[in-house]
Amino acid sequence: MERETLEMDVVFVGAGPANLSGALHLARLIKTHNETVANGGAGEALGDIEIGVIEKGASVGAHILSGAVMDPKALRELIPDFVEQGAPLESPVNEDYFLYLTKTRAIRSPITPPPLKNHGYYIVSLNKLTAWLGEKCEEAGVNIFPEFPGADILYDENDAVVGVRTGDKGIDKEGKRKANFEPGVDLRAKVTVLGEGPRGSLTKQLVQRLGLDAGREPQVYSIGVKELWELPDDRYPAGRVTHTLGFPSDAQTYGGGWIYGMQNRILNLGYVTGLDYKDPLLDPHAEFQRFKTHPFLRKLLDGGKMIRYGAKTIAAGGYYAMPQIYADGVLLVGDCAGFLNSQRLKGIHSAIKSGMLAAEAIFAALVAKDYSAKQLQRYEQLVNESWIIPELRKVRNFHAGFKHGRWLGIMNTGFQFFTGGRSWGLFDRAKAHAGHEEMKKLAAYGYRGDNIEQRYDGLKFDGKVAFNKLTDVYHAAVGHSEDQPSHLHVLDTNICATRCAEEYGNPCQRFCPAAVYEMVEDSANGGRKLQVNFSNCVHCKTCDIMDPYQIINWVTPEGGGGPDYKGM
Ligand SMILES: Cc1cc2nc3c(=O)[nH]c(=O)nc-3n(C[C@H](O)[C@H](O)[C@H](O)COP(=O)(O)OP(=O)(O)OC[C@H]3O[C@@H](n4cnc5c(N)ncnc54)[C@H](O)[C@@H]3O)c2cc1C
Repeated sequence: MERETLEMDVVFVGAGPANLSGALHLARLIKTHNETVANGGAGEALGDIEIGVIEKGASVGAHILSGAVMDPKALRELIPDFVEQGAPLESPVNEDYFLYLTKTRAIRSPITPPPLKNHGYYIVSLNKLTAWLGEKCEEAGVNIFPEFPGADILYDENDAVVGVRTGDKGIDKEGKRKANFEPGVDLRAKVTVLGEGPRGSLTKQLVQRLGLDAGREPQVYSIGVKELWELPDDRYPAGRVTHTLGFPSDAQTYGGGWIYGMQNRILNLGYVTGLDYKDPLLDPHAEFQRFKTHPFLRKLLDGGKMIRYGAKTIAAGGYYAMPQIYADGVLLVGDCAGFLNSQRLKGIHSAIKSGMLAAEAIFAALVAKDYSAKQLQRYEQLVNESWIIPELRKVRNFHAGFKHGRWLGIMNTGFQFFTGGRSWGLFDRAKAHAGHEEMKKLAAYGYRGDNIEQRYDGLKFDGKVAFNKLTDVYHAAVGHSEDQPSHLHVLDTNICATRCAEEYGNPCQRFCPAAVYEMVEDSANGGRKLQVNFSNCVHCKTCDIMDPYQIINWVTPEGGGGPDYKGM
């Protein structure tokens, strides 16, 4: 097949805060350098350096979902006057609350735990903030290509990365070319930066191929399920931040809720569930729906209207789970490098900072005309010397502490506060497993069959407070052309109706927050079979992470497909 090849200098894959900050910082470093040289300064001008950012979403921000309370320290380094320049900020944080929820009561903690203190931070819609950063990049001369998924990494004969291949367009569901067929483009670059967010599909390939995770712990994840509501009055002001612990999670499951006040009476709420849960009947979407049925939440939402929905995973493993972040011709930034601080549930600041540090390392590589791992290792050095690593080291055993349940996890967190992150044997991160390995079989849990009522007895999707998955997915404004091959590759569907049904009761039907996976009658064979409703997919990647047999492979669909997270 004839493919167009585009020669770039630097390609950033994914238009998230990490890569947009990296592209912007790099464009400015080059401009300043070229001006200095033109004015008689030392060195050689770099000339026109082509910087491209590719994004699988239909626009910058379309696939971006976060909380989000942003620690502004990195944005301030990138754009010191971001407030004056009109960065879209919902509100400074004015009030912090921490609640413990029993089934019926909301008990306010007299003190807010230090990691959840947000004074000086901002509530933002990360969707709006990335769109704004995208504009800043374009003003600085960066080329942004929405609807361009990175489908494959291009390597040379020595396994050095030399660019990415974008996905083909116009293939029908049988794999045949349609009238609008367009082959993907080979974007060749001196340096490729992967900023795909959690569980990046190219990052996964690269890490496996080059063994970048050798000697590191497996990454563990959580999933955040979120809605925006329009409230009828000012009952929850912009700038108020509430975090909750307790109901509806059981004491063995890592989880907690957030409620943030945004402008124009918009309430932003969601629920995080650790993707290392044990109960095979657990359903993160149902956990969130149940959260909203708590009397405190019911009262808050009374008379309001749900307007948006979304879900996305969070890379929670932290310090011990970070892969090697550089190799020949390639760097990893943001969540796909594992820079999120899971104790604070904050990764925007470190994503921005890591993008900037990557830019500095690339700038040095362009000046040295050397794109080898040896040269690009400068990025790791810069990260080690920055505030990112000390911040992550202090909480290095945080998530692992919860593997023995909520109360020991909290004790461990308190202990680490005084030890600067040191833990003791029971909570040692070095004994961690990948999250899917934690799921127990139905029988081990004492369940009879996969009837979800055994866990969610009494939960009703009343369409007022609690919604079923299809109603929620409608509010994620998801769109994929139906006539394309499924981008969710289930590598062995024979397991589904037999072994998986018996052992785990087909948990894909529950851990997917978008009703993508469905076991349906198989009239031809008189049994059941898996149906993959891929057009519902919100690109959260939970299936790729949580499938107990690790046979689901998430790859990028045709460019532009997916959710549209306006205002999220
Ligand atoms: C529910 C939830 C709540 C959170 N709350 C907070 C919070 O309150 N405060 C905070 O600081 N952080 C929070 N975070 C974390 C924060 O959102 C992330 O740390 C941050 O967004 C990471 O930025 P990133 O640029 O690495 O990746 P992302 O923001 O994930 O962006 C990645 C981009 O790359 C694109 N992409 C992926 N793969 C490809 C491909 N192959 N080709 C082309 N494009 C691709 C995606 O579509 C996306 O646009 C939260 C995260 C979640 C999920």
